[in-house]
Amino acid sequence: MNIHEYQAKALLRSYGAPVSDGRPVLKAEEAKTAAGEMDGPLWVVKAQIHAGGRGKGKFKEAEAGEKGGVRLAKSVEEAAALAKQMLGRTLVTHQTGPAGKQVNRIYIEDGSDIARELYLALLVDRQTSRIAFVSSTEGGMDIEEVAHNTPEKILTFSVDPASGLSDFHGRRVAFALGLEGNQVKQCVALIKTLYRLFVEKDMEMLEINPLIVGKDGNLKCLDAKMGFDGNAIYRHPDIAALRDETEEDPKELAASKFDLNYIALDGEIGCMVNGAGLAMATMDIIKLYGAEPANFLDVGGGATKEKVTEAFKIITSDPNVKGILVNIFGGIMRCDIIAEGIVAAVKEVGLKVPLVVRLEGTNVELGKKIINESGLNVIAADDLKDGAEKIVKAVKG
Ligand code: GDP
Ligand code: MG
Repeated sequence: MNIHEYQAKALLRSYGAPVSDGRPVLKAEEAKTAAGEMDGPLWVVKAQIHAGGRGKGKFKEAEAGEKGGVRLAKSVEEAAALAKQMLGRTLVTHQTGPAGKQVNRIYIEDGSDIARELYLALLVDRQTSRIAFVSSTEGGMDIEEVAHNTPEKILTFSVDPASGLSDFHGRRVAFALGLEGNQVKQCVALIKTLYRLFVEKDMEMLEINPLIVGKDGNLKCLDAKMGFDGNAIYRHPDIAALRDETEEDPKELAASKFDLNYIALDGEIGCMVNGAGLAMATMDIIKLYGAEPANFLDVGGGATKEKVTEAFKIITSDPNVKGILVNIFGGIMRCDIIAEGIVAAVKEVGLKVPLVVRLEGTNVELGKKIINESGLNVIAADDLKDGAEKIVKAVKG
């Protein structure tokens, strides 16, 4: 689960990390008061969407020369005008995809004078099963680009959870970033704070880009991106409360309410599968036969008829879906439950695209009987290969 920059900065502030003063704004009328609560002489007006690259992004229907979603203002009036201009519009960045994201919240921040822009991130390194730090002198830029063009400018290391974090880690980052004097102390403190925050809140990712050295010589977190482990959110009601459902794919949101493992993709074949491994294999074989999956979906082991019905409805609600492949190997999951779910969902929402069903395993005969007697226009498949071939043929001809 991701949160907005202003929420991430509030968390950083509450842990004692250096961030600027700022105010979130939901309505244009609030902008002037919010900006007026800061002294100036510089204000930063920032579009709040769950995507990076806002500064270099572009609004849809932008006027010639109009800048992106992070703008500097020299007065309260200018800040308020910029906030008003951005609210409700759609911002496209390299992370939003071409559809962009609607800006429903603005963050007005006390502007900083920047001497250097640095990069700092924490993430879970799955290879070492540890928390890793990534830092670079090349802040304010796309880190993927830095990693590609100048990998020597990135320092990465992971922290052994048995011995934990020590000052040494902070100093290592500080020297890699070329910090001096008091900045080294600030960096050591910041690294400790971020690590504690990351662990205590079960984060998956924390990115400060840029971390700046101000003209006053002090470190500050100028941007903040945070992602939290969805499986641990139940332990953090304070974090759960920060969820902004308007930022999420409505299909993924519906799926999460029914506890389905669903990820929207941009292909044309909707997949309903049980088991993550089989779901991955199904996506692979669809690609092998020359089509693209529209989603990853694992309905899980003990799914009920209601859950299967919801899953099917989510798949059919995607306008990109031109055909559906149901691939079930019933072990704990029973084929008759799947069949009942499909029949119930089709009764409710209809079926406008070809449907290939491959059922195998527990109660397979009963499952096939339910589908055959339902009058649904289903193409039956014998195995995974047969199913993939048939659905690709039905969609692509
Ligand atoms: P992003 O484009 O979504 O990553 O948004 P950021 O918050 O990182 O802002 C983009 C860029 O705007 C930064 O890299 C800075 O160069 C600039 N910027 C952001 N805040 C300030 C500020 O307080 N003062 C100045 N001078 N520039 C800022
Ligand atoms: Mg940034």
